[in-house]
Amino acid sequence: MKEPEKRCWAEISPENILHNAAAIRAALPEGCRFLGVVKADAYGHGAVETAKLLESVGTDYLAVACLDEALELRAAGVKTPVLILGHTPTKYTPLLIENGITQAVTGLREAEAFSAGAQAARGTLKVHMALDTGMSRLGFLCTGEAFEQGVEELVRSCALPGLEAEGVFTHFAVSDEPGEENERYTREQFRLFMAALEAAGKAGVTFRLRHCANSGAVLHYLPEFALDMVRPGLLLYGYGDAEGKLGLRPCMRLMTRVLTVKTYAPGTAVSYGRRFTTQRETRMGVLGIGYADGLPRLSSNRCTFAVGDGMAPQRGSICMDMCMVDLTDLPGVKAGDEAEIFGPRADLNALARAAETIPYELLCAVSKRVPRVMKNF
Ligand SMILES: *Cc1c(COP(=O)(O)O)cnc(C)c1O
Repeated sequence: MKEPEKRCWAEISPENILHNAAAIRAALPEGCRFLGVVKADAYGHGAVETAKLLESVGTDYLAVACLDEALELRAAGVKTPVLILGHTPTKYTPLLIENGITQAVTGLREAEAFSAGAQAARGTLKVHMALDTGMSRLGFLCTGEAFEQGVEELVRSCALPGLEAEGVFTHFAVSDEPGEENERYTREQFRLFMAALEAAGKAGVTFRLRHCANSGAVLHYLPEFALDMVRPGLLLYGYGDAEGKLGLRPCMRLMTRVLTVKTYAPGTAVSYGRRFTTQRETRMGVLGIGYADGLPRLSSNRCTFAVGDGMAPQRGSICMDMCMVDLTDLPGVKAGDEAEIFGPRADLNALARAAETIPYELLCAVSKRVPRVMKNF
């Protein structure tokens, strides 16, 4: 039997992922390595598929958020070095070592526990030290009065047996946001990072891989912030470059179909809560996608999708599995036609604004129910 027609699906373009990876690489200074962030199922694009594409073009490193994500890549045969950026309970040290996974170390206490775990397993755990220079999340705190103690604990951590401190990194809070104040904050974070590395160097501790540049920093602070490696996520998937500097292409095209079409008289209430009423005789289509697929309900009555050869405004509250669009001005559209929710024609950034969020969240929100189809578009 032929596979049943899908009510909604996400087309993932391998060509565009590779295009973006190449565009980012071309912007790097000579000798700078490239780490691709594939956490959160590669921002919804499929971690294994994306990692294999990046591996095929010699990407130097991959990064994920947690142990499960790292193990998923190893189980699929991905051989590229993998860094876990987030917290891993130290009891999993043997599992990290066995699978050749690099772990971020976020403080002296964690370093000591990883060291003990590695020694007990008679192995060596490869680690990257995380420095907190103003993100106020994970890492050795290296700001203000905590600076000296942060550096001291970093140096002590690097000397612990069973740990190989291959790298060191920090993470920016506002490198992607415009304005002088944000630039000042970002440059101060970078200054603290460099100062901590210099102080550690005086104590005899150096690192082969120093990295700090997320997508925002790759766009706005290169070559200065490139150091030994850059660490973008969002750019790989085609977003975050509002000025179009890198010529990136969206890699996901979220698709559905027109299920049925009906014509309503003026004054007809549409969907739950009656939040839309037709002003004219209206040809209304029902689309096979709703908030359970990741289309945010907050964007109800505020967004537009690409249908046929035009754009159709969405009308009424978005339901769990469906939503309605006004097709009055697109007379050629009929039941069965495809609709693009976001992708090359319907801008994800516009949908994110309508939902009062960021493109990251909408990419990650495309739910498990939506099959990913590898297909260039
Ligand atoms: C998610 C993440 C990144 C990638 O961020 P983008 O803004 O998507 O480039 C880089 N570094 C760390 C520590 C992260 O958590």
